[in-house]
Amino acid sequence: MVVLGGGLTGLTAALALGRAGVEVAVVERASVAELVSAPYDGRVMAIARASMRMLEALGVWASIGPEAQPILRIRVEEGGVPVRVHYDGAELDGGPLGWIAETRCIRRALFEALEGLSGVRLFAPAGHREVVVDSVAATVRLDDGRLLRAPLLLVCEGRRSPLPRRLGIRCATRSYGQIALVATLEQERAHGGEAVERFFPDGPFAVLPLPGRRSSIVWAICEERARALCGLDPAAFALEVEERFGDLLGRVRLASPLWSYPLLLVVCERYVRERVALVGDAARGIHPLAGQGWNLALRDVAALAELVVDRLRLGLDPGSLEMLRAYEAWRRFDGFTLVAVTDGLNRLFANDHPPLFLLRNLGLWLVERAPPLKRLFMRHAMGLLGEQPRLLLGQPLW
Ligand SMILES: Cc1cc2nc3c(=O)[nH]c(=O)nc-3n(C[C@H](O)[C@H](O)[C@H](O)COP(=O)(O)OP(=O)(O)OC[C@H]3O[C@@H](n4cnc5c(N)ncnc54)[C@H](O)[C@@H]3O)c2cc1C
Repeated sequence: MVVLGGGLTGLTAALALGRAGVEVAVVERASVAELVSAPYDGRVMAIARASMRMLEALGVWASIGPEAQPILRIRVEEGGVPVRVHYDGAELDGGPLGWIAETRCIRRALFEALEGLSGVRLFAPAGHREVVVDSVAATVRLDDGRLLRAPLLLVCEGRRSPLPRRLGIRCATRSYGQIALVATLEQERAHGGEAVERFFPDGPFAVLPLPGRRSSIVWAICEERARALCGLDPAAFALEVEERFGDLLGRVRLASPLWSYPLLLVVCERYVRERVALVGDAARGIHPLAGQGWNLALRDVAALAELVVDRLRLGLDPGSLEMLRAYEAWRRFDGFTLVAVTDGLNRLFANDHPPLFLLRNLGLWLVERAPPLKRLFMRHAMGLLGEQPRLLLGQPLW
């Protein structure tokens, strides 16, 4: 198989296939040193329960888990309004609702695991200048002229990849007009393992607990205001955070640089074409307000790897259109649901209209008072609903 893009999705896909004995070539434009370095990516990932089981089955959770912070509770509210929804692991089975891990630590664990697999070859840094697909294989010409040919091409190049369109797959793109500011804070008050999503009219602001008295913030805000915030010195930025979250965090100090991620919604009409599967953000890139993008991508990887491995075991073509259609059918509803939910929530909360203000707070009030609905939402966020591929159940593919 050829995997284009060695981000979190491409690396996990290579690991899932490689562990099952499938030969894989991964093409990534950045170098490995760059990808695991501190300045490259300041994000943390909220990892759902099912995703953790998959990372465990792939043998990488032992490296990620000890550095991850369990999420014991989640609180969702609107800034300045006392109505809120509390999700508590104790209301389900007492276990964590998820974990928060640094992206850098996840990448490092994935690279280390891939190093031990003789069937996986990593081309990084490397680009490609031509992709040709015919009825039997996909051929990729790398920038240095080398050719890679495989019965299936996994496109994992993220939401800004032009490749799906070049391969004839229509994709809709819309800017959110927001930038997500990401940083690590040191805080006065203990977080107790609680993650908080607070919606403001200018965008959602999440505080995600990290080990110790530290949190990672993801503050999605309109572009103009984000640029002004980026121009502040660390002490002035900390004051802005305290203005919105001081009641919860106490005094804060910026403990990292400030990263900014312009937010873009991407939805591809199809996830497949002959010999090609779009996986992760390349298939659809969603708003980060629910912390679900990579969890969704892992569900893509688990489904696709299972279909490929099962076909190989039966001696069947692992890149046939029939198999690819099964992948698309399996993954489409989940992808569509999360696009709709994240986009809908952002629209519902990011405005000042009085009728919508009433509607959303009535919604929060109702959910808080409906335990079965809360449990359903919790199970969905934990990735425990729907038909689960084996990896998400924690079972190996090989
Ligand atoms: C601020 C923020 C916070 C988030 N928080 C969470 C969270 O808490 N939980 C969660 O589940 N998700 C979260 N997400 C979403 C998550 O980051 C993405 O869903 C995930 O990173 C997608 O991974 P990917 O590998 O599909 O794409 P990408 O991360 O975009 O990786 C694509 C890779 O392909 C490479 N590439 C691109 N083009 C080429 C080319 N031509 N040749 C070679 N290589 C190429 C790139 O260098 C990159 O390494 C967040 C997103 C943002 C912006």
